[in-house]
Amino acid sequence: MNINIITLFPEIFVALNSGLLGQAIERKDITINLLNLRDCSMNKHGQVDDKPYGGGEGMVLMAEPLEQSIKNISETKRGHVINLSPQGEKLSQSKAQELSKLDNLTIIAGRYEGIDERIINQYVDEEISIGDFVLSGGEFAALALIDACARFIPGVIGNQKSVDLDSFSSGLLKGPVFTRPEKFNNESVPDVLLSGNHARIQEWREDQSLLRTMERRPELLNEIKLTKKQIKLLED
Ligand code: SAM
Repeated sequence: MNINIITLFPEIFVALNSGLLGQAIERKDITINLLNLRDCSMNKHGQVDDKPYGGGEGMVLMAEPLEQSIKNISETKRGHVINLSPQGEKLSQSKAQELSKLDNLTIIAGRYEGIDERIINQYVDEEISIGDFVLSGGEFAALALIDACARFIPGVIGNQKSVDLDSFSSGLLKGPVFTRPEKFNNESVPDVLLSGNHARIQEWREDQSLLRTMERRPELLNEIKLTKKQIKLLED
């Protein structure tokens, strides 16, 4: 997957070089092409923002530098163009999986009051939000989006099965996990996990996943078809 990122702060993306994502970039499973919006400024002062028409607070990223930056990416490498915005469709696990199948993605990380609406109308395929809150820039949203997508790219996560068992993949949250020591501050690991009985452990995990979803995100249960056994467990 090739990901182009248009940003005023390319240095923030050094964070992509760590962990599994960093390894995927090193292997070239993912390539990151950073475009500094400032390089496309139309004047010698490096200006890329201006006051909003009609007055009001803040500054707006200008259309011309953004257009130039988009055009600097060849059409074959540009692919699907995303503008990050708190007003976009909320990012979900299924959206991340869908985007991970694309060969080319261009992400616009906005700043200030956002980008001139005409760039959205003329160049953007989709707007994505990472949640109902406002960040000061799209860079951290881009990092979250790229990380969520990368987990679905074959080879990025060593054990692909763990992605299938992640929260939301089956529609439920994942249950609690434990590691050594067996006892920590008087709290012990549930006996079943020490039993060596794989069928019982599997059943316990499925039950915990269901119960945790009911406790923390009950609305998710409306989205899946529960078995009779699961309904009985929730009733109990
Ligand atoms: N004034 C805008 C509004 O109220 O909708 C918010 C602009 S925000 C301060 C600046 C930039 O941060 C946005 O252009 C966008 O790129 C990014 N941003 C902020 N919150 C975001 C979110 N929840 N999801 C994705 N991007 C976000």
